[in-house]
Amino acid sequence: MPIPTYYTTDVLQLTPEWLQQRGKSALLLDLDNTLLPRDTQQFSADVLAWVQQMKDACIKICLVSNNWHHRAQSAADELECALVAKAIKPLPPAFLMALRRLGVLRRDAVVVGDQFFTDCLGAALLGMTGVMVLPLAEHDLPHTLFLRNLERFVMGDRRPQPLGPPGWRLYSQR
Ligand SMILES: [Mg+2]
Repeated sequence: MPIPTYYTTDVLQLTPEWLQQRGKSALLLDLDNTLLPRDTQQFSADVLAWVQQMKDACIKICLVSNNWHHRAQSAADELECALVAKAIKPLPPAFLMALRRLGVLRRDAVVVGDQFFTDCLGAALLGMTGVMVLPLAEHDLPHTLFLRNLERFVMGDRRPQPLGPPGWRLYSQR
């Protein structure tokens, strides 16, 4: 399985149907620069509608964030979803805690995030499906910007792709 399993532009590419067709019932979501640009506190209307759409389809959601500030809790409060903060991704414990909170198994959930070395590597360490998205903002923490250079190296010529119909895999497109 490639790491990340899928590489696409943004979370809006994921639909309840896409998840359900793959037997997925839960999302473990990164916060910063995946759902919320790092330099704002305001979710876009699109992201709020997307979260609601997932909830309406009974897709369970847990934020898994390395962020240790109040920002993570207030985001989870606003979205009315579970949260595992101070996650130390890519280490497995936070992902396992998130799965327990939602009452699902590894194979039921998809990890979504904008960073290879935290979100996608974390998913891979647990054999989970990972979806990498482009960061919402260029602005990020210094160590993240450093990791982005390594990320460019490991991602090579892979480019974000629209998420297609069932059975369609980015890897088969190469
Ligand atoms: Mg992030």
